This record gives sequence, C-alpha cells and structure tokens, in this order.
Amino acid sequence: MIHELTNPVTKTLVTHLRDQRRDAVRFRHTIAELTKQLVYEALHDFPLLDKTITTWTGELSCKTIDEESIVVVTVLRAGMPMLDSVMELLPEAHAGFLAMKRDETTHESVLYYDRLPDCKDKTILLVDPMVATGGSIIDALKLIKSREPSRIITLNIIGSPEGLDVVKSAYPEIDIFIAQIDERLNEDKYIIPGLGDAGDRSYNTVG
Ligand code: URA
Repeated sequence: MIHELTNPVTKTLVTHLRDQRRDAVRFRHTIAELTKQLVYEALHDFPLLDKTITTWTGELSCKTIDEESIVVVTVLRAGMPMLDSVMELLPEAHAGFLAMKRDETTHESVLYYDRLPDCKDKTILLVDPMVATGGSIIDALKLIKSREPSRIITLNIIGSPEGLDVVKSAYPEIDIFIAQIDERLNEDKYIIPGLGDAGDRSYNTVG
C-alpha cells in the first residue's frame, strides 16, 4: 500500500528541496528531516517491548522498539542521508548497503554491490529518495526478499505515479511511505517536477 504524507511541514520541506538554491549540506539536512517524518509514520503501529533501564530514581521498566529487529537498507549514494537519519533515530538498528548504476541509455538500473546483514525475520526499512521508473527499488526488493525478512517498508521522498504503480504491482504486500507523489517521468526518466539528480545534489557530484 502507498502512504503519501500529507502534513503541511512535509510539503514545505519538499518545496525547500526543489529550490535550486539549496546547497548540498542543506539538501542532505532536509532529506534527513523528511526521513524522520517518514519513520514516525511508517512505525506508528510497531510493537513496543519492555526494557529495564537505570534512571535518576533507580531501575524502571520502559517501553521501546526492539531496534535490533530493524535493518535499514540504503541504495547508494542518494540514500545515504536517509540511512544516517534513520540510524540517528534508531542507533541499534543494523545497516545494509546496495549499489546500483543507472544506465543512461536504457535507463535500467544495474546492481553491482551488496552488503546486507542478516535479514531473516527482521523488519527492513529500504530507503531511496527517488522512485522514478521503480527499477532500482524492484531490484533491491528482489534481493532483500530472498533473505527472508518478516516485513519490508520503503521510505521514499519523491515518486512518479508510473514508478509507484510498477512497485505496487510487483510487490503489493509492501508498504511504501513517501513524502510526495509528483506528476510524471520525462523522456530521460527523471521525475517532473522532481528534484533533479538527488545523488548529485546531495554531494555536488556534477561540476
Ligand atoms: N533519480 C534521481 O535522482 N532523480 C530523478 O528524477 C530520477 C532518478
């Protein structure tokens, strides 16, 4: 199921991201803030455990998410600010990395590196800012599913209706939390109005 965030703060941050004057530091910072909003929405029904901690008045049993049951998987490089943001919220979660290249002629994504921790029976948060054709998410989901997690949730900043349809049709059981669904893809498979290349904008790669 696709869950598009509706909070006015979310929409404001998306507008900040579209502004070409955002430098790389502020671009990554805004992606990180949006990611935290996505995590709060995505984990609103996550079970809580009791954990005994030492407080200023002594031992106390408190509620907590079992962070170690969560694996955050990022698609390099545009997903890195999202991964860092989730790990700041859930520091005991495990991180996994996938690297894909976009073939600029065919617009297909090619997976060339994977380093995933044990995913069996874990909840996977797959973070990737842009769902354009859906190709890279589908490749990532195929690999992650083969590692037998209990649940997969994707966290995305901007998506095209076309790409989201592709992902939803291939993996209807997956929950997709997204800050903004945009209008369409252009002929080069960039999202319109979108952000441009999120990886380049995060790290000033062009130039
Ligand atoms: N990847 C991006 O970073 N931007 C797009 O618009 C499409 C894919």
